[in-house]
Order: sequence, then C-alpha cells, then structure tokens
Amino acid sequence: MEPLRNILRHKTAAVKFYEADATKIDHEKKVVYISDDSDIKGDISQTEVPYDMLVVAVGAMSATFGIPGVREHSCFLKEVGDAQAIRKKIMDCVETATFKDQSQEEVERLLHMVVVGGGPTGVEFAGELQDFFEEDLKKWIPEIADKFHVTLVEALPNVLPMFSKALIDYTEKVFKDEKITVRTKTMVKNVTDKTIEAEITHPDGTKSLEVMPYGLLVWATGNAIRPVVKDLMSRIPAQKNSRRGLAVNEYLVVDGTENIWALGDCSATKYAPTAQVASQEGAFLARLFNSMAKTQSLEDDIHRLSELKSTASGPEEHEKLDAQLQAREKQLNRLKQMGPFEYTHQGSLAYIGSDRAVADISWLNGNFATGGGLTYLFWRSAYLSMCFSTRNRVLVVMDWLKAKIFGRDVSRE
Ligand SMILES: Cc1cc2nc3c(=O)[nH]c(=O)nc-3n(C[C@H](O)[C@H](O)[C@H](O)COP(=O)(O)OP(=O)(O)OC[C@H]3O[C@@H](n4cnc5c(N)ncnc54)[C@H](O)[C@@H]3O)c2cc1C
Repeated sequence: MEPLRNILRHKTAAVKFYEADATKIDHEKKVVYISDDSDIKGDISQTEVPYDMLVVAVGAMSATFGIPGVREHSCFLKEVGDAQAIRKKIMDCVETATFKDQSQEEVERLLHMVVVGGGPTGVEFAGELQDFFEEDLKKWIPEIADKFHVTLVEALPNVLPMFSKALIDYTEKVFKDEKITVRTKTMVKNVTDKTIEAEITHPDGTKSLEVMPYGLLVWATGNAIRPVVKDLMSRIPAQKNSRRGLAVNEYLVVDGTENIWALGDCSATKYAPTAQVASQEGAFLARLFNSMAKTQSLEDDIHRLSELKSTASGPEEHEKLDAQLQAREKQLNRLKQMGPFEYTHQGSLAYIGSDRAVADISWLNGNFATGGGLTYLFWRSAYLSMCFSTRNRVLVVMDWLKAKIFGRDVSRE
C-alpha cells in the first residue's frame, strides 16, 4: 500500500484529502456526496464537495455475473483486506483438516483450493498458493503432503487469453509439473458453502454437470461497475449503451458531460483494465490539466499585453510589446495542439509459480515472448521498478528476503 498522506506531503500545490466514500455524484448540481465510513465517527459523517472539474477514478469491483452463492462463499482478490481474508481462510482450512479424527473425505475437501478465473490474477494466485504449499506448509505439516490440491477453473478453452499460444502452452505445462489441475471449458453455475457446481463442455461438444467439493474458493473473474459509477451512468442519457463503465472520448471526458473525466478500471475504453493503462491515463490527464492552466494564464497575458500595446507611448515600446505578444501566441498555439490520449503497451507479465514467469514484451514494433527462470527475475525487477516510492521498493525487497529466510507469514490477525 502507498499511503496517500505520504504522497501529498511532498506536493507543493494545495491538495485537500478526505478519507471518505463517494456515495453519489450529482453532475447537474456539480456536487459529490461523501460519507465517512471509518469506525470512529465525529459530529459529521456525511457531507458534500462541490466541484468545477471532476475526475472519477474509483476503479471497479469483482464481478460475480450473478452466479448464486459466489458473493456469500468466495474470497475475492482485489483489496488488501481480501488478501488477508484469504490467508486466514487457508490456515483455517489447514488446521481444521488436521483436527483430530477428521474424516478422509472432509480432509480432502478442506485442502482442495479452487481458483476461478484463468486470467493473470487467477494464474498468479494459483502458482503462489502451490509455492506456499511446497516451500512452507509441506515442511510444517508433512501429513497433508498428499492431500493439498490446487485447481484452476476457466470457462474459456485456455488460460491467459492475452498471451501468445506458446506461452499459454508453457504455462499449462508448468502447472502440470507443479501438480496444479487446470480445468478449462468449465463454467461455474452455482456455489454453496462446501461445493461448486460447474458445467463442463467436452471435446465432442456435449455438456455435463460436475460437483466439486472445496475448502477455499478464490474468485478472480474480472471487473464489475461500482454502484457510485452505475448510478452516475443511469442519469446521463449518453451512457445508456455503455456496459463496462463510463464511456469517455479520446481526451477521457465522460460522454454526455463537459467537466467530468474518467480513467482506469471505472472507464470503458478499447484498452484492458490494467494498471499500465490507468497510470498512463493519469499522466495524460495531469499533462492535459497543466496545459489547460497554462492556456488560461497565457490567454490572460495576451489580453493584458494587447491592452498595453494599444496604449503604448512610442514605437520602441510598441515593438517590444508586439514581440512579447507574438511569443505568447506561439506558446498558446503549441499548447492547443495537445493530441488525444494514446496508450503505449509495454507488455504483459505473469508469475506462474516455482520461480518461473511468462512475458509478452512489446519490442521494436514487434513482440518478444519468453518464459522461465530469467523471465521471473525480469518480472521481479519490473515490479520493483514500478513501485511508486523508494519506501515501498525497500519494503518489498525486505518482504521477499524475509519470506525466503523465515518462510511466509501465516499469522491470522
Ligand atoms: C490481484 C490483481 C493483480 C493485478 N496485477 C496487475 C499487473 O500486474 N499489472 C497491471 O497492469 N494491472 C494489474 N492489475 C489491474 C490493476 O490493479 C488495475 O487495473 C488498476 O489498479 C486500476 O487502477 P484504478 O486507479 O482505475 O483503480 P484502483 O487501483 O482500483 O483504485 C481505485 C481506488 O478508488 C477507491 N474507491 C473505490 N470506490 C470509491 C468510492 N465510492 N469513493 C471513494 N473511493 C473509492 C478504492 O478504494 C481505490 O483506492 C491487477 C489487479 C488485481 C486485482
């Protein structure tokens, strides 16, 4: 986590930060309603923030596609709290499985860890979970060695659809070696507290239903729109046909509005909902706003110089003011030429377990696909280089070292 207060401390511009939930955006009144959701409340816990210009960047929430039982029984992998809940649940499953006189059938269910969603999040989590078992759990509790089992479930014919075919095959082979079961063409239809009901499409096209008992279910199937965004969309007619989030133009202005911008996972663009896209959009908006501010100040300057020029006392002063005016007009024209947002894809990376990773890197107008141990080192260095602050970079390295030397932290509080 990157504490916002720490980032804002270093800003020269005045930034007011409120830790609050934006519950509603009224684009006609130009007001955002906010509510303090923390455990400790003061006299006021709900209020409104008026705005001239608004940037919506609330991200998305985990999609469940309305499948019964998913919201109630699965763990998600989106916020930091979700990761902590998963850690607690894994250890609860392991300790309950080793409880005295537990039946074999129940031990197998409790130690069956199911991950639904074969995108990078699901694949990386399945790989990490198997690592945790091989590197830590197996040493501490050898009696569960032949019972712990990770299954990755995916509705499409293969995992990691955004990667090249060779890397998909490589990932599936590595998973096989790691003893992770990959169940493709398997669509979850219903979830109870102990079982998953899935529809399997067989190679001949026939379908059958299967019931899988599980101890831990991690749901990683992509994004759904947050309620505050859904509510805003429902009140803007131009957003009627947008299904994935706020539809925006090429300058990230929300369709149907003039002074609202949206970026990242809450917006619907032709790009994938990734941090890579969100951060480039953020940098673009910062440039756009700076250029709007400079335009305003140049226009004010030009207005002032024109007035001075009209009352200039002699030809020398007139010439001097004229030169200044021309320079400002040139700057203004350059500023006004700022083009729309363009995304530069740097590549896709995913960790697949046992110190191996896959990478599809954009390179010299082409693509470079690679997988294995060296790619894993590249993956680690990419993560480090993309940490926002030196503080976090150091903390991440220390965490990796700590886990290598002492094993992973399994505390449940
Ligand atoms: C497990 C996982 C791994 C990922 N790995 C990668 C990766 O390796 N590379 C990559 O490019 N992408 C990755 N992604 C995707 C990436 O995290 C997102 O695309 C990116 O974070 C989107 O940025 P954002 O700013 O739009 O939203 P977010 O990062 O989700 O930020 C939104 C913020 O808004 C806050 N918020 C939400 N609702 C409200 C509200 N009503 N009021 C006030 N605040 C609110 C949230 O608390 C959050 O802090 C991963 C995603 C997951 C879940």
